[in-house]
Amino acid sequence: MKVFVTGGAGYIGSHTLVRLLAAGHDVCVFDNYANSSPVALARARQLTNREVVAVEGDIRDSDALAQSLADFAPDAVVHFAGLKAVGESNDIPLLYYQTNVTGTMNLLAAMDAAGCRRIVFSSSATVYGEAQYLPFDEEHPIAPTNPYGRTKAMAEGVIRDWATATPDASAVLLRYFNPVGAHESGRIGEDPQDTPNNLMPFVAQVAVGRRARLSIFGDDYDTRDGTGERDYIHVVDLAAAHLAALEYSARATGCEAINVGTGQGITVKELVAAYEAACGRPIAAEIAPRRPGDVASSYAATAKAERLLGWQAALDVDDMCRSSWKWQSENPQGYDATTGAGA
Ligand code: NAD
Ligand code: UDP
Repeated sequence: MKVFVTGGAGYIGSHTLVRLLAAGHDVCVFDNYANSSPVALARARQLTNREVVAVEGDIRDSDALAQSLADFAPDAVVHFAGLKAVGESNDIPLLYYQTNVTGTMNLLAAMDAAGCRRIVFSSSATVYGEAQYLPFDEEHPIAPTNPYGRTKAMAEGVIRDWATATPDASAVLLRYFNPVGAHESGRIGEDPQDTPNNLMPFVAQVAVGRRARLSIFGDDYDTRDGTGERDYIHVVDLAAAHLAALEYSARATGCEAINVGTGQGITVKELVAAYEAACGRPIAAEIAPRRPGDVASSYAATAKAERLLGWQAALDVDDMCRSSWKWQSENPQGYDATTGAGA
């Protein structure tokens, strides 16, 4: 199958790329490297001994996007490209709407022009907002609490309307919970450009000595140990979910939103303890005030993914921490361009 992957150099995109290449699919990555490095693509080639077409381009540039898509003539699209920092989305919301919503509309128009009718989209559990009940199932009301979440909810709506209006279209909206971990080779992983916003990359940078200590945002939540509880999903399991979604999109039409998580909540303190075991050193941490907008608990109902995709998570929190540590300790500065592409 020929698969056009927007944002394929990024964290989740590069892990999915490896999986696609290893399964024998032909892939074109379209990415402007706003938050990633072409070194990730070089490493995906090395890991799989396969070629990948790479186009440097911006999904806001509708002509360039349409041209690339028409040239590659894919059977299906996986749409990762987007901006994802919740805090930043409060400060520069228009850039978030242009990238995440207009970029998605540009992509669908380009697919129409090229006659491509299958899309797998990177959505997020953040579209649910405050939990009215747990676990979150796909019928939970959509009420995002920040601009980033609203761009994802809007993009979902645009894709759903497109799928309804397009004969034989198939769209899968994957609502990721908390992706963490890295490829088992230690060659690709998460490489935040600035101070990490998310827990796991922050913990990893403390472990490797890039940061002095973790701030635990609140220990007075209504959870087992008072710290926030999330559904962490190994990025390698998440990559597998994309292949399952692509297969599903070949046999089903319409539009489905599907959670991708393990169904298990892990607290901040539990995650830190698992990371300490994985890296064999203590993680300095202090209790800090709650982070505005955080909820106590979030975890997924996973039955729909099992039913429609035949997919469920296989890797646990120890696998997540071990693989993260291997990546972080072997690439302490991430994809540092000065070490040379593919080095
Ligand atoms: P990432 O930043 O590593 O990857 C996004 C990729 O898109 C990067 O390679 C970036 O360079 C590219 N990109 C950004 N703007 C672009 C543009 N205008 N044109 C072309 N390419 C552009 O992020 P990720 O963690 O791999 O996330 C991938 C997708 O999954 C995003 O859409 C994100 O919103 C979504 N998501 C991520 C998480 C998470 O916690 N990582 C959770 C839920 C959903
Ligand atoms: N968290 C923390 N310190 C950090 C980053 C995150 O204590 O430096 C906590 C956060 O309050 C939440 C959990 O870790 O309870 C997961 O946060 P993350 O930002 O990774 O994911 P999200 O909140 O978006 O689910």
